[in-house]
Amino acid sequence: MRIGVLTDYQIKQLDIQSAQGSYDIFGDKSIVSLLVPGRKVSLSVSGSRVVVHVGGLVSYTVSKVMLVPQRTNSSLLFSSRQLNIKKHSYEDALEIFVYKGRLQFVNVVDMNNYISGVVESEGGGGRHLEYYKVQALMSRTYALKNKRRHEKEGFELCDRVHCQAYHSKLRYTPKIRQAVESTSGEVIIDFNGDLVTSYFAANCGGQTCDASYVWNNSVPYLSTFKDTFCLQTRQSRWTKRIPKATWSSFLAKKYGVKESTYGALIYNFDQENRKAFYIHPSLGVPLRDLRKEFKLKSSYFSTKLDGQEVVLSGRGFGHGVGLCQEGAMGMADLGLDYKQIALYYFNKIRIINYYESQFFKQKKDVGTGNL
Ligand SMILES: [Zn+2]
Ligand SMILES: [Zn+2]
Repeated sequence: MRIGVLTDYQIKQLDIQSAQGSYDIFGDKSIVSLLVPGRKVSLSVSGSRVVVHVGGLVSYTVSKVMLVPQRTNSSLLFSSRQLNIKKHSYEDALEIFVYKGRLQFVNVVDMNNYISGVVESEGGGGRHLEYYKVQALMSRTYALKNKRRHEKEGFELCDRVHCQAYHSKLRYTPKIRQAVESTSGEVIIDFNGDLVTSYFAANCGGQTCDASYVWNNSVPYLSTFKDTFCLQTRQSRWTKRIPKATWSSFLAKKYGVKESTYGALIYNFDQENRKAFYIHPSLGVPLRDLRKEFKLKSSYFSTKLDGQEVVLSGRGFGHGVGLCQEGAMGMADLGLDYKQIALYYFNKIRIINYYESQFFKQKKDVGTGNL
């Protein structure tokens, strides 16, 4: 995979150190130098080209720099006090070029190394092996489905939540490596054979949300259903109090829903089962809008008036579509395996080996003359 890293920063100069192993430094196409463990290479922008300093002595100006490890288990370390960049380390190769006047770093990384870094960046430690396997499956599916998202910038996916958080190589949780390697190549496909959009959220509050409530379009493998596995968790319930005047003025200004017309009705809403609209669809107030405006943990809440305040009693955390992370953790702790977990949250899906399926697809295309 080609992952654009440190995309949040406008970097014009940076030192990179080899934390482990030696690296060949390629300037454009030929080897210009060697980076040995503990030494630094300094990179800076000069117009549309990169200036490479190695060991403070030699310097080269090239259009593209590649740092290629001489053997596996090598890693590079980035940090800059000046730019307030904390330590990041990456496995495999690194490509550097100038993009819009700044240095663009692309980690050219093995799929499993990348997925391991993502699962740790997004999920952290202390989870069950089967849970990590589901996460690995979902982020691999995501990565392959979205490979062209940053094509114009010269890489496939970025390292931010825009794509998938990838702060660093896997550092602390060996169990994640085990989960990623034991599901190597596996992805989730829908009944048409297409890679699924692997939505997930922290806690669905006991009922997953229909994709159409959040994004207008419905997704056949993401319907709403009751999830009992996340009910006893920390994030399954929340409350919030909002001044009555704030609540009513938002409803009146944005949707023309006024207390003078509807009375106290506009403060009392019961959402036993998930709905798309506040009170009644005819009022035209989508719950997702209220969630956004009042920064609510979820759109799965009921309301009632208490004096001069509207009290919201909510369930869950996040949009609630797709896999419920706390529910999936609960299932794994109860001894269910990753396939059972994936099939519980996604309807009529299949788990296949992506690379084998590509191979057979090609063979079939050759056979039918489609190539
Ligand atoms: Zn992105
Ligand atoms: Zn849930």
